[in-house]
Amino acid sequence: MAVETEEEYGGTGASFFSSILVIEELAKVDPSVSVLCDIQNTLINTLFRRCGTEEQKSTYLPRLAKDTIGSFCLSEAGAGSDAFSLKTVAEKKKDYYLLTGSKMWISNAEHAGVFLVMANADPSASYKGITCFIVPRDTEGLHIGKKEDKLGLRASSTCSLTFESVKVPEKNILGEPGKGYKYAIEMLNEGRIGIAAQMLGLAQGCFDLTIPYTKQRVQFGKRIFDFQGMQHQIAHVATQLEAARLLTYNAARMQEAGRPFIKEACMAKYYCSEVASLTASKCIEWMGGVGFTKDYPIEKYYRDCKIGTIYEGTSNIQLNTMAKYIDKEY
Ligand SMILES: Cc1cc2nc3c(=O)[nH]c(=O)nc-3n(C[C@H](O)[C@H](O)[C@H](O)COP(=O)(O)OP(=O)(O)OC[C@H]3O[C@@H](n4cnc5c(N)ncnc54)[C@H](O)[C@@H]3O)c2cc1C
Repeated sequence: MAVETEEEYGGTGASFFSSILVIEELAKVDPSVSVLCDIQNTLINTLFRRCGTEEQKSTYLPRLAKDTIGSFCLSEAGAGSDAFSLKTVAEKKKDYYLLTGSKMWISNAEHAGVFLVMANADPSASYKGITCFIVPRDTEGLHIGKKEDKLGLRASSTCSLTFESVKVPEKNILGEPGKGYKYAIEMLNEGRIGIAAQMLGLAQGCFDLTIPYTKQRVQFGKRIFDFQGMQHQIAHVATQLEAARLLTYNAARMQEAGRPFIKEACMAKYYCSEVASLTASKCIEWMGGVGFTKDYPIEKYYRDCKIGTIYEGTSNIQLNTMAKYIDKEY
């Protein structure tokens, strides 16, 4: 839960690439556990580490490394892809702010101990009023809605939040006032590599569970793996998995080297989500009827993979960003 966090704050002090590997490995078994770890590492810890005051870092980072989950609160009912049209406001009083509004789709909210909330402290400045606030769970006026009943990622809670004049002291602003939009963009740019790793791990985990079955199952007196029609499909998916891995690792490598990586991160997330959908779908087909039942875990991967095309920027939004960069390059 604190892969990159420095040892002095209770973390392991490892690299961004290490976080990506952890997210991938966890997703092989359960993409819900993986996304919990992904959000904690690529969004929450990173925001605290980069923007926190010494007091904020020493208060929250050790807890986030040990026993506290953080939630990243940007989306609202009317602000999804157009995230910065958010309506939650932060009204400045003496040495505190009053937060009013609501958030939607907040991962891990059911168990989170701390929420990083994007709220507009100066709506006249449009998105340049967006400020990031640290809101502990027990803050008066913060209401956590019921868990959404989702297609997949069912072990990961997704809730709405309501802020009814929530009093947040000024010292709980993370980073500079009015820079929340910038922090959110930066975190999500990196976070997308995490979602790519989650989708890659999901696809690999599903593939790893399915191939042994195709080598045991006999039809027409042969293992089904031995039919060329099966082998070509399996080899095709294995190639896509390898390409997805290379895109993800390359984006992580570029981020770590301090090189521009946004287009590459979008490509990795977009492609890995496609590969996860293809792999999970093909694995069900290769397992035949049993792949369609809950006796095997393959159908769960099929349900879990769909989210890859939606959160931290839909596939269309990834394509929009890639096109923007391609436009600049030529
Ligand atoms: C399970 C889950 C967990 C989530 N966790 C979090 C979280 O922890 N924190 C958080 O802040 N948010 C979270 N989200 C929100 C998520 O990031 C949004 O759902 C996502 O950004 C899409 O927004 P939307 O659902 O409003 O869809 P919309 O923006 O309404 O998109 C609907 C469709 O329109 C398309 N579209 C929209 N704009 C354009 C455009 N300009 N060009 C082309 N196509 C476009 C989209 O691609 C999509 O196909 C989560 C969502 C889910 C489902």
